[in-house]
Amino acid sequence: PKTMMPGDTLQMTMVSEVTNSGFPNSGFGRELVYNGNFFSGGIPEMGYDPGAEINSDEDRRKYDLPEKPEDLPPHDDPKGQRTLLFVDDADLIDFEAVVSTVPSQIAVAPGYLQKEWTEGDRRYFHYIQDTPIQSFFTFVSAEYEVLKDEATLPDGQKVAIEIFHHPKHKYNLDRFLQSYKDGLTYFSETYGNFQFRQMRLLEFPRYAGFAQSFPNTVPFSESFGWVADFSDPNDFDYVYYVTGHELAHQWWGHQITPNNTRGSNLTSEALAEFSALILTERRYGKDNMKRFLKDELDDYLRGRSNEGKKENVFINCNRPYQWYNKGSLILYGLRDLIGEQAMDSALHKFNQEFGLREEPPFPGSSDLYKHLKAATPDSLQYYLDDTWNKITLYDNRAETVEARKVGDEEYEITLKIRSQKLYADETGKESDGTYEADYIDIGVFAADDQDENGRDRVNPLYLEKHRVKPGESTITIRVKGEPEKAGIDPYNKLIDRIPDDNTQDVDIG
Ligand SMILES: [Zn+2]
Repeated sequence: PKTMMPGDTLQMTMVSEVTNSGFPNSGFGRELVYNGNFFSGGIPEMGYDPGAEINSDEDRRKYDLPEKPEDLPPHDDPKGQRTLLFVDDADLIDFEAVVSTVPSQIAVAPGYLQKEWTEGDRRYFHYIQDTPIQSFFTFVSAEYEVLKDEATLPDGQKVAIEIFHHPKHKYNLDRFLQSYKDGLTYFSETYGNFQFRQMRLLEFPRYAGFAQSFPNTVPFSESFGWVADFSDPNDFDYVYYVTGHELAHQWWGHQITPNNTRGSNLTSEALAEFSALILTERRYGKDNMKRFLKDELDDYLRGRSNEGKKENVFINCNRPYQWYNKGSLILYGLRDLIGEQAMDSALHKFNQEFGLREEPPFPGSSDLYKHLKAATPDSLQYYLDDTWNKITLYDNRAETVEARKVGDEEYEITLKIRSQKLYADETGKESDGTYEADYIDIGVFAADDQDENGRDRVNPLYLEKHRVKPGESTITIRVKGEPEKAGIDPYNKLIDRIPDDNTQDVDIG
């Protein structure tokens, strides 16, 4: 054998077989089932994979192994910057696949279908991805029915949409489709053009409950809404939301390919979750966002209270509760403060600088931070610093809310509120912040009613940002219409230790 030199080419033939012999005591092979398969492995990776090492501190102590470092390399680590987070075997690759399956099934891999044929008792599919992608792909095959549609991007480019589903699972196809159509248009005009000519969604059985975004190809579990009942208009439309999240990964994850440094996964997961939140806001309205924000907040608070080691600041995030839940919340909060235009333009510029890079350095969390910082005015830099470089919590609450009628349908409201910003260290130890005042929403609401779809609707009579100082404040506001509730940060845009005491019923004297 000869040593391979840089630039050399080597053809390799691999024969890979997966066998389940007998029934294990726990776990099961779910890749291959009677009516299909979902298979992402089968091709050996190059080199050494530290991800497969024993992880738990306890087990490592038992075997006399040193503690494993928790964090990825620092943001400016040259090797980290030139290595991709999802797969370190290669930078972007050319991808071509010929897949065969049984005649009753359709087999799918990333890329555009070139040809389909039958040979013997096998059905063949030939796919080519004609632009470079990460070495991150999957093979799915099943007895599918396919819903075909099309989206037109703002520049006129057409995108073929294909939804591969179990023939009986047609209940929510319109929700998946709507999310793809809305997202393809909105994300393209906001973050930069969609990079493919097709976008696919593929149902797989509920033996696993997740969705995952490969290039133009998204496997999506049966248990994530294919057979869900959404007849109550107040049910959380997670089909629309999760589909939006996975689609957003085509930008955040596939155009922006995170590097292997501390916190870089936020450029994929936090931006995908944030983009899904915005897509949902556009469909359900700004004033109906509390339930979504509250979910993210509760998940973040639960995550940090169950933290077993240390909580990293966001720019170095290393846990799902940080990159999904804290991430979407603080990006939403930033957009709310600096405005939609400034936020969109920062994300667009970030994608312009780093999107679809074939050569390193690849982007990390500090690259996104730099663009957001440039878009944030001096008066609001405190928020960016608090949310990215510190662990910041608020203790906001409404103490009393009184109102008196001062005219025809006019009311004067007096709110007594209390506010305090706190900083936590990585072990959760808190101390009060010292600051002059922060921008926080003050809101007064009429009674909820229902919109034309029978969905509960929030009716703000007043919602404005005030500079709220720490401690107690009294705020007086006049509104038109009968107030029912009022308070501080009513939509839970800030990370608040106790989000439920932010509003109070109005006492009309
Ligand atoms: Zn994701």
